[in-house]
Amino acid sequence: MTDRYDIVVAGAGLAGSLAAAAAAKNGAKVLLLDRNKEPEVGKKTNWGWVCGDAVANSHLQFIKSKLDISFSNPELDYRVDGVIALSPDMKNRFLFDGEGYILNRPLFEAKLLKYAIKNGAEYRSEFEVEGPVIENNSVVGIFGKDSEKKHVEAHAKVVIDALGVATTLRRKLPHNPYVDKEVDIADVESTGRFIYEFDADHVDLNWYDPKNALIHLNQDISPGGYGWVFPKSNNKVNIGIGVQKESLEIRNKKFNKKDTLHTLMDEYIRSNPVLKNLRLFNEHNNGKGYWSVAVRRQMDSLVFNGYIGAGDSMAMPNPISAGGIGPAMVAGILAGENAAKAVHKGDTTVSGLWDYNIEFNESYGHKTAGLEVFRVYLQSLNNELINYGMKNFLSTKEAEDLSYGRVPELSLASKFKMVLKGASNINAFANLVYVVRKMKELNEIYANYPKSPEGFEKWREVARVPVEEAKAKFRPSPV
Ligand SMILES: Cc1cc2nc3c(=O)[nH]c(=O)nc-3n(C[C@H](O)[C@H](O)[C@H](O)COP(=O)(O)OP(=O)(O)OC[C@H]3O[C@@H](n4cnc5c(N)ncnc54)[C@H](O)[C@@H]3O)c2cc1C
Repeated sequence: MTDRYDIVVAGAGLAGSLAAAAAAKNGAKVLLLDRNKEPEVGKKTNWGWVCGDAVANSHLQFIKSKLDISFSNPELDYRVDGVIALSPDMKNRFLFDGEGYILNRPLFEAKLLKYAIKNGAEYRSEFEVEGPVIENNSVVGIFGKDSEKKHVEAHAKVVIDALGVATTLRRKLPHNPYVDKEVDIADVESTGRFIYEFDADHVDLNWYDPKNALIHLNQDISPGGYGWVFPKSNNKVNIGIGVQKESLEIRNKKFNKKDTLHTLMDEYIRSNPVLKNLRLFNEHNNGKGYWSVAVRRQMDSLVFNGYIGAGDSMAMPNPISAGGIGPAMVAGILAGENAAKAVHKGDTTVSGLWDYNIEFNESYGHKTAGLEVFRVYLQSLNNELINYGMKNFLSTKEAEDLSYGRVPELSLASKFKMVLKGASNINAFANLVYVVRKMKELNEIYANYPKSPEGFEKWREVARVPVEEAKAKFRPSPV
């Protein structure tokens, strides 16, 4: 494989297959590489397609509007009305309305790959991408091992990095002012996710709700993260937790415990009173897995010379919910379109690829820095404060606004209630007001995302300040 491609897409997950489809549809000669065997396309690791698999219908509509692909059963395994977040004491719930689906992930990924191939992308399975080929401070291809373990280079005008959170491309870029090579461990959630068939012991909508995706906020069960119970077809459930390493360490130290992600996961499943007679549902060997997800704002720039990143390789999941399916799909399509455009223009430098930064920022990225600040604040609250806050600080509307990165006007009613309560709670409320202010500040900064690489470094310094201030102010404090 030498010098034959306009675009090499590394990784055929959600972002990669859609990037390849969009680039090929826009006339580029595309090679799509993935380490899995074809029937297992998009599998993240040996553990399977580890994910909650919940996606909002609005994201599926975005793909339809851009590429005219429609989805239905069986790849859309189960429909839900919305998401419900429950307080640790289960006395308060925020309902986030909005139709969504729990995917049959292996079938969904297979459909995207088929679509990429139909649009003309050349697909190579069982190819391990090991790093970028660099010439004159530009990415000009990738190197790796093919299915026979032979060293191979594939050259292209643009490489799209869609390798997911453990990307071997972004981490090996030359030192540059645009794309960070590392992600801070404090910004990563370690996660466990199992799929079970079960018998319902009784009805308790706090533990299993056939109409909604449930999220359990609880700093003891999942320090620095949350637990989830997502219904699937035929009495199956996708259940999991995410934890932040430092929060778990603090919690263990305080209670003299030695819990790990694995023990917490087992406990979370055992303690669910509704799900009984659990049988691991191991179709496609996808029953039980552990993996990581970054919960920070996406990389400040998603492009370098000859290089574009999309999806988890660029830390795109929503910092509060860890929902990364939507942004990966949006980014994949925009990355493919913009890479093809840059190839046609004959400029695949940072400047030639810059429009992708602008388009992703407009479509999704403008809100994530604010959400990162909100996440850091949430991780600084113990269960008592979360209970109190969900009861008194926020209305459902305000919580919904926050979760979408919109800045709510906090109601006076909540403020009055605060005055009547103890000093520590007033403090927590004052902190929430601070966070909302920082979110507003960041939304304004991101509204002024630079229109070209000139001015980027200056913008970046400005954008970092509110995030760093919030991180210095709020330390993980789960107990
Ligand atoms: C436990 C868990 C639960 C989650 N729950 C949800 C949820 O309910 N809703 C939601 O929206 N998001 C959720 N997310 C996030 C979501 O799963 C990701 O954001 C999404 O999968 C990102 O897609 P991607 O295409 O960027 O990367 P990936 O899905 O990771 O795909 C990357 C592809 O690249 C391949 N690859 C990787 N390295 C190499 C290599 N070196 N050579 C060749 N191929 C390689 C992989 O095998 C894979 O096929 C969850 C994440 C986790 C871990």
